[in-house]
Amino acid sequence: MQRFVQRYGFRLGAARFVAGESFDAAVPVLRRLNDQGLLTNTTLLGEGVRDEAETREVVAAYREVLDRIQAEGLRTNVAVKLTHLGLSIDEELARRNVAELVEHAARRGNFLRIDMEESAHTDATLRIYRRLRESGHANVGTVLQSYLFRSEEDLASLLPLAPNLRLVKGAYLEPPEIAYPHKRDVDAAYVRLLETSLAGDGFTAIATHDETLIERAIAFTSEHGIPKERFQFQMLYGIASRLQLDLVGRGYDVLVATPYGPEWYRYLMRRLAERPANVLFLLRNLVRG
Ligand SMILES: Cc1cc2nc3c(=O)[nH]c(=O)nc-3n(C[C@H](O)[C@H](O)[C@H](O)COP(=O)(O)OP(=O)(O)OC[C@H]3O[C@@H](n4cnc5c(N)ncnc54)[C@H](O)[C@@H]3O)c2cc1C
Repeated sequence: MQRFVQRYGFRLGAARFVAGESFDAAVPVLRRLNDQGLLTNTTLLGEGVRDEAETREVVAAYREVLDRIQAEGLRTNVAVKLTHLGLSIDEELARRNVAELVEHAARRGNFLRIDMEESAHTDATLRIYRRLRESGHANVGTVLQSYLFRSEEDLASLLPLAPNLRLVKGAYLEPPEIAYPHKRDVDAAYVRLLETSLAGDGFTAIATHDETLIERAIAFTSEHGIPKERFQFQMLYGIASRLQLDLVGRGYDVLVATPYGPEWYRYLMRRLAERPANVLFLLRNLVRG
């Protein structure tokens, strides 16, 4: 099944969620989104790298992407996964690699966000983020997942750093000992994180396609006079495109996370798991062939 999807899946379905198999293919997609008034970020898909030399190739690829973004004049920043940069091998290796990219991004006037992966990596990810901020890097952000019980405490401990935080519900399968199993609890925790983060001194990226939560965020920011420079909405490429444009029309910043690369399989599987209807979409394309 995996081999089949990897072979035919890009054409049959992944192209809905992934901008291309190379950065060259992604550039016109990013430009089109920018032309529609949307901000973008991009990610070279990949994770769980276990070979140090490969992590150096990933760093080199991102350096080139940051150079190209500047040369092409795109309104695009980058989001990376620490296990793509060596976190499964050694925390210090991942820290050095990401620090190099944060510095390179700063030289290009750009910003880098560290995605949040499975709970096994949460502590190390937050440690690395904290060290980057404490050593003076302002152009870096990370992510908190509302399905994890721990996230409210993590937020409280990050707030003194005026963090740049993307809030998400969480995309991995986590055990009920550490994560809310029921959607209503995940949503309620999201609201708590959202309101605490917005009331703090940092920047909040509200990353959800959930319209109820989005309207709740809008109501909260207008009730509390929180300026539009202090937050933005974020959604995934290929999901809720009309909502993205509606929010732009209402004057809000919206960033579309637009990944690329040949290793799109695990990313596609997470998108399918979030919404069974997406499996039907893939199957329909298969039948149409
Ligand atoms: C910009 C961005 C960055 C992210 N980064 C991370 C990260 O670093 N770590 C992490 O764990 N997770 C990340 N996620 C994923 C996130 O955790 C959720 O899995 C995902 O956003 C789906 O949840 P939701 O908030 O949209 O709400 P849901 O309640 O799941 O969905 C609300 C509505 O959105 C639409 N929708 C949601 N998902 C899909 C889909 N796959 N296909 C079609 N429609 C859909 C449906 O209409 C659905 O009813 C990110 C999400 C976004 C938008």
